[in-house]
Amino acid sequence: MRASQRLAGHFYDSKGEDTMRRISVLTMVAVVFCMLCALSPAGEAAGKAIAVVSVGPVDEALVERVAAFARGNTALRVSPARKVECSETSLDAIGKKALESLGEDEVVMVVLAWPDEAVEAHGWRLPESAVSVVNVRSLKTDGVTDEVFARRVEKQTMLSIGMLLGMEACPNPQCALWDYSTLEELDSKGRNHCPPCLDRLQKKAVEKGVELDLDSPFRMR
Ligand SMILES: [Zn+2]
Repeated sequence: MRASQRLAGHFYDSKGEDTMRRISVLTMVAVVFCMLCALSPAGEAAGKAIAVVSVGPVDEALVERVAAFARGNTALRVSPARKVECSETSLDAIGKKALESLGEDEVVMVVLAWPDEAVEAHGWRLPESAVSVVNVRSLKTDGVTDEVFARRVEKQTMLSIGMLLGMEACPNPQCALWDYSTLEELDSKGRNHCPPCLDRLQKKAVEKGVELDLDSPFRMR
């Protein structure tokens, strides 16, 4: 009784009940509106992506696996993997040609290439360039298991993404950004970016407009 009297002194009269009801309805409308905004495709499309494409006879399942790994382990938006038709043979020409297919919503591109002619280099990249080529063919050495081979491609892709977004080599041999010299070193290094590198990578990516998956366990910021 005393409580209702105290309330009546402030706003709890019959007119106040209408106001309260109106406020409740408005609050619910606002909450639903915000939920719809969060779910809308327009909101998702606002963030840019990293492209992972293949050139030449690279196994489709491998390309999808690598794109999914990069997406899951960087927490950054990676476009669905796609194939690019290209008749070039050198890594730099393949990279330049593939880059012509960069989408409007994509900022950088990793090309998983199987050149017609064997090239020794594991990859190609120009400083300040938006494209990096992973020479998949050179990573498929005699006797390598499918799993080790796939991991080599994943490591090269994670290294490429880091370099494309402005990262530098990392002294941690378990980091994907560690600068290896031999195939043995490539096989022994980690596939993921170490936590400090991942944090910096995500900062640089977001600055370039790349969408960060806010629900990812790999989100650092
Ligand atoms: Zn690192």
